[in-house]
Amino acid sequence: MNGSFTVTLLAENTAEGRGIRGEHGLAFRIERDGQRILFDTGQGLVLTDNAARLNVELAAVDALVLSHGHYDHTGGVAQVLAAADRKLPVYAHPAALQPKYRATAGGVREIGMPAVCRQALDTQARLILSTTGATIAEGIRTSGEIPRIHPEEASDEHFCLDAAGQVDDPIADDQALIVANGAGIVVLLGCAHAGLINTLDHVRGLTNGAPIRAVVGGLHLRSATPERLEWTLRELQRFDIAQFYPMHCTGFAATATLWQALPGRVQMAGAGASLEFDF
Ligand SMILES: [Zn+2]
Ligand SMILES: [Zn+2]
Repeated sequence: MNGSFTVTLLAENTAEGRGIRGEHGLAFRIERDGQRILFDTGQGLVLTDNAARLNVELAAVDALVLSHGHYDHTGGVAQVLAAADRKLPVYAHPAALQPKYRATAGGVREIGMPAVCRQALDTQARLILSTTGATIAEGIRTSGEIPRIHPEEASDEHFCLDAAGQVDDPIADDQALIVANGAGIVVLLGCAHAGLINTLDHVRGLTNGAPIRAVVGGLHLRSATPERLEWTLRELQRFDIAQFYPMHCTGFAATATLWQALPGRVQMAGAGASLEFDF
């Protein structure tokens, strides 16, 4: 499909523009040919207000897609469903609905979807669960579960499925949104818990090797070692991606490393930004 499309940031850790607020979270509104898709909702602290400021009508969204089940991506689900005048289609991996926790030296914290959002999905949504991904609109699909083929991207964080921290959470629900546009692909990421290169290799497989033009979203490299960053940069050369918008959980060191290594290709964007893709 040809033609331009717009990605508006409704929630991000940083903010740009008068009256726009940031939060630890991510929410995108994708608009193309009258189709409006919401990818994630942030925590829900800024979604409704930012949308109103940006003249984005949450009631006019055609579908909601969830990258994974963490609260900073799903906390606004109830608000989105309440704004819709019908049962909104919501696309997710079934594991996004599981209880989710994170264990650190300080203890185990609950970090899954808030109960009120989980309940709203049961009563106010048309839930479409898939492990292999789904087509949302022409040229727009989810990646489904991402195979972890590169051990270099194994996480050193301890995510778990129980409050005791006994059962590891592989975050199988982590998925990307793939927008095919004319001569290339734009990949939108929630947190990229599966790893950036694992994700890009999977996208490449799903799209018959179509060129990936842009990567937008959380790269989850904030605790990556210098060795992993170096490895990531080397692997990125296989893709020759023209535009990066690292956000949310990418981390300062990773963002700075990308910025230096890929001159002219890395840009910052916070809540309130509108990214136009035309190729
Ligand atoms: Zn996450
Ligand atoms: Zn996140």
